[in-house]
Amino acid sequence: MKVKDAQFIISAVSNAQYPDGNLPEIALAGRSNVGKSSFINTLIGRKSLARTSSKPGKTQTLNFYLINEQFYFVDVPGYGYAKVSKKQRESWGKMIEKYLMERPQLKGVVIIVDLRHPPTEDDRLMYDFLKHYQIPVLIIATKADKIPRGKWNKHVKITMDTLDVEPSDSVVLFSSETGVGKEEAWRKLENWISD
Ligand code: GDP
Repeated sequence: MKVKDAQFIISAVSNAQYPDGNLPEIALAGRSNVGKSSFINTLIGRKSLARTSSKPGKTQTLNFYLINEQFYFVDVPGYGYAKVSKKQRESWGKMIEKYLMERPQLKGVVIIVDLRHPPTEDDRLMYDFLKHYQIPVLIIATKADKIPRGKWNKHVKITMDTLDVEPSDSVVLFSSETGVGKEEAWRKLENWISD
């Protein structure tokens, strides 16, 4: 997709603040610092529309970005941030669960994982949750530039095995540094948007 226009719309803390209208939404989830903002910025070809965070996980909001006035990227707060209280984690979970389960505009969720490491327990929980509610999933294994090319397949396999990925779901190898995987990621997302 050629992105001509990308605008930050709102950091929403409740569903009353979610944008009106029927444009499709694609949510992005991942643990803090995994490279979620960089993924969004790489896809839309902007340096810093989505804030790359030095303070991981502090924002407990859903951030909506309107792309080409055609669809929204919805940045979900990074999970697995150890420094938030149990209570905060619970309220984080409820807000996100409600959004994922009840938002008719939601077309699918991108889970971003780090290609270098096996997905975490939180990644697994998110994947299982989405499968349970039959929400389409795309897995992006980012930071591929940090792994030698000859080991890419091995790491993709570890990612797939750890998440127990269903054969119908894809893992796309990605790097915000080199742009590898950008076209493939767009192809998958365009299917969701035009569905
Ligand atoms: P977020 O917290 O998930 O939004 O993560 P960010 O996008 O802010 O990225 C966290 C850190 O990882 C930053 O220092 C980024 O520059 C770095 N990073 C993100 N993606 C990549 C990538 O594909 N390759 C490399 N080498 N670094 C990355």
